[in-house]
Amino acid sequence: MSVKVERLVKTYDKTRALDDISFEIQSGEIVGFLGPNGAGKSTTMKIITGCLASDSGDVFINGVNTKDNFKEIKKTIGYLPENNPLYLNMYVKEYLEYSASMYLDSKKINAAVENAIQAVGLSSHKSKRIGELSKGYKQRTGIARAIIHNPSILILDEPTTGLDPNQILEIRNLIKELGKEKTVILSTHIMQEAEAVCDRALIINKGKIVADDSLKNLKTKNTGDSTIVEFDLKNISGVDFQKKINEFAQKEGFSILSITKNKGNLENIFRELTTE
Ligand code: ADP
Repeated sequence: MSVKVERLVKTYDKTRALDDISFEIQSGEIVGFLGPNGAGKSTTMKIITGCLASDSGDVFINGVNTKDNFKEIKKTIGYLPENNPLYLNMYVKEYLEYSASMYLDSKKINAAVENAIQAVGLSSHKSKRIGELSKGYKQRTGIARAIIHNPSILILDEPTTGLDPNQILEIRNLIKELGKEKTVILSTHIMQEAEAVCDRALIINKGKIVADDSLKNLKTKNTGDSTIVEFDLKNISGVDFQKKINEFAQKEGFSILSITKNKGNLENIFRELTTE
């Protein structure tokens, strides 16, 4: 399912959190929503998921304006909010059954809970109390809740924040796996995360979209690739080897030891686009 955001504006008191943002995400894409803290990522996600109203602008899910029939549209969206709010005193399975009951007939709950537990790899922990789980398993529980009604769109707000490196890898792999069947929007301020998981990135800064492209294009476009050529210099003297370097190498009979393409670095691009 596709998501289209058109000219969203949101102001909290005097803070303009979203300043006329538009973008479109096609069915099946995994898109990274990148930006520094306070850029407007959570606000955008809350508006797409119907948890917050915008001042103006529209959100379309598969071409249907969420203002027209949000009750139905909501069934197609799974949302993991920032900080993953969970009921720590509940047991994993109990919590997921409770969450499923908000969307599904009682007959469908058991199967839905089992599917979600399987999908996120929670089988060995399903009878534990949520409060006893590690942060990684808490995160899996939150993702299980987000997919309990088998939504086509998954919106994950900073899903790996606070996890250790192993847990981060596990959750990223899980998101990639879920992304095979769902449209995923994932917010993060970690550039490597976008590189590891996403096809495309939207970069937001101060409530404005400052870049929207494939990661491949972003990396080459903004930083300008450079090429490092390593020579064996012992046979060269007084030559301008910036010009026609290959011809020269051949003519002069020295060897090019290596040519390294220095790929654009996403961290630099992020900094370029989001700092003044
Ligand atoms: P991000 O998710 O990128 O960190 P947010 O969407 O949370 O950014 O915040 C965007 C801006 O809106 C920030 O300046 C933030 O301080 C402000 N903001 C967010 N939520 C509220 C709120 N409930 N009340 C007032 N200001 C808010």
